[in-house]
Amino acid sequence: MPNRYLIANWKMNVPPEGIERYFDALGEAGEGNGQLVVAPPFLYVPEVVRLVRDRVPRAAVAAQNCGDKPSGAFTGEVSPVMLRYHGVGHVIIGHSERRNLFGESDALIARKLTAALDAGLTPVLCIGEDLKVREAGRVSVFLADQIKAAASEALESAREVIVAYEPIWAIGTGRNASGAMVAETVAMIRESLGRFWPARYGQQAPILYGGSVTPDNISDLAANGNIDGYLVGGASLDSGKFLAINAGM
Ligand code: PEP
Repeated sequence: MPNRYLIANWKMNVPPEGIERYFDALGEAGEGNGQLVVAPPFLYVPEVVRLVRDRVPRAAVAAQNCGDKPSGAFTGEVSPVMLRYHGVGHVIIGHSERRNLFGESDALIARKLTAALDAGLTPVLCIGEDLKVREAGRVSVFLADQIKAAASEALESAREVIVAYEPIWAIGTGRNASGAMVAETVAMIRESLGRFWPARYGQQAPILYGGSVTPDNISDLAANGNIDGYLVGGASLDSGKFLAINAGM
């Protein structure tokens, strides 16, 4: 298992430079410091899987979401089994945009996590507080509750679950958390993972940070040794910025 990840979340966008040019740029660049994972919108998954295989074989492909069942009468959903079949290795689950804009509950997120693991995908579970919670000094309790709510039997035999700490106030706002703040929060998350999930997750789960990461702030974040990588939205749409983050992390 890689020890550091760099995940591109394209959201409902494609890179302005074009998908082929994006992967050419990734393929031509040096290795960098993180395992590259790119999460395109569903429709682009087969094309991105092919481009990664042909041009950037060291990278992997993620989905941004998945259904909570392997198949059935669920109009508009995409099954984790289908994603696996099409060459996807990872899936983002519980992104704050899914939780807040699409009403995904903790219970649904727990079912998606289980369905993803059952399908052989590596989940990237997103957790994070809003500004009100941070200002009230309730971050530790809030994150512990999100971690507890995602616990399930499927975690016992899972090979890997990645956790992404994404404070809502830092996503897409240009206001990133400082390296010191992330480091402190990662330690809280490790403690809760060890308490509410099988104990090994407390030591082993990769914990990433996401929230307005750019080439300009990566050195402050990277100076704190306990961050296992980054989930990047806006800056991941530009291959040059994404690669600069990979070089600086
Ligand atoms: C995200 O969408 O997960 C994210 C971190 O976005 P941004 O980097 O744009 O804040």
